[in-house]
Amino acid sequence: MAPDDSAARPVVPPADIPLFSTYVHPRAAEQVAAVLASTMLSEGRLVRQFEQQLTTEFGLLHPAAVNSGTSALHLALEVAGVGPGDEVILPAQTFVASGTSILQTGAVPIFADIRYADGNLDPADIEHRITRRTKAIMPVHWGGYPCDLAEIGAVAARHGLVVVEDAAHALGATYRGQPIGAISDYTCFSFQAIKHLTTGDGGAVCALDPAQAEEVLHRRWFGIDRAHSPMSELGEREYDLRQLGYKYHLSDYAAALGLANMTGIHERMQRRRAIARRYHAELQGVPGLTHFEYQTDRESAYWLFGFHVEQRLSFIRQLKAAGISASVVHVGIDHNTLFGGKRMELRNQRRFDDTQIHIPLHDALTDRAVDHIIAVIKQGW
Ligand SMILES: *Cc1c(COP(=O)(O)O)cnc(C)c1O
Repeated sequence: MAPDDSAARPVVPPADIPLFSTYVHPRAAEQVAAVLASTMLSEGRLVRQFEQQLTTEFGLLHPAAVNSGTSALHLALEVAGVGPGDEVILPAQTFVASGTSILQTGAVPIFADIRYADGNLDPADIEHRITRRTKAIMPVHWGGYPCDLAEIGAVAARHGLVVVEDAAHALGATYRGQPIGAISDYTCFSFQAIKHLTTGDGGAVCALDPAQAEEVLHRRWFGIDRAHSPMSELGEREYDLRQLGYKYHLSDYAAALGLANMTGIHERMQRRRAIARRYHAELQGVPGLTHFEYQTDRESAYWLFGFHVEQRLSFIRQLKAAGISASVVHVGIDHNTLFGGKRMELRNQRRFDDTQIHIPLHDALTDRAVDHIIAVIKQGW
């Protein structure tokens, strides 16, 4: 074979390319094993260290670690005072957990439309849905791309509403120079296995107000103030339960995994951004493909890389034949029986449902795999 032949050869994928991969740092096993050996498994020193690290690495304000992103959302809504009879406005372009966490409080999820250009809550579609019962707005940063938080915050301020961000996709994203996790009344993260920082399962609640952040800490563990409940001579903590709390704390063995996975996270996120830049530049102008919109005042965490395609089923099949996974990840959740049981009249959501698609973006993607994905898409479908 002539040496200059290599450029013309079709790129062969190393193996089938999944949509997601779970990142576990090479030293994680050792660090988790040390916790197991210590037998101090539950919430303790490592959870506090994990929380401090979230602040130093990502600028999160008062993060309280919990056992899932769903627990984070439920707890934030509870501390925000959302309860039976209240309404919470959210987009349908999300995972069902955003909606179920609202139902858990006894409140009703009210779906607002999204922007077709990026899948995020449309600030212009919120106000006419506000009633006397509306208590909160829950924006979801789809794929890690920050919502219009200034506009959403302004609507909330005009009507005295609380903003609870579902930032399950958005750890490490920034909006107008500020980290997601330091902007709204409450911000909730997920560290579930396929999110870009994982503790196996886990999450965090950030509350802007220190008193509310304190309440989050108590209510993630039954409502007991651990710092001010000394052991009595009889051998039980002394406390008076005043508020309903939950068993939502994170455990130290999970925090050890999270801490290990935070090693080198900025380099890994740089790599995700570099791959996203390649997808953006090299797929520009491919017939039948329209990129999502990106504004210069915010930076995505790039948990996902999505765009709009024509002939979506052909696109998915074409990629599948080439060993590449492509997925809608989630379509609008409003059709679920639990949330009303019918597709609502959300014009942009319905268009988004029909054309959105996501391609692999994760820590295990090699340059060869990225080359292959781009080459296959450029061949058309
Ligand atoms: C992952 C996810 C959640 C739930 O997080 P868990 O940690 O799995 O409970 C909530 N909202 C969105 C948008 C998610 O993607």
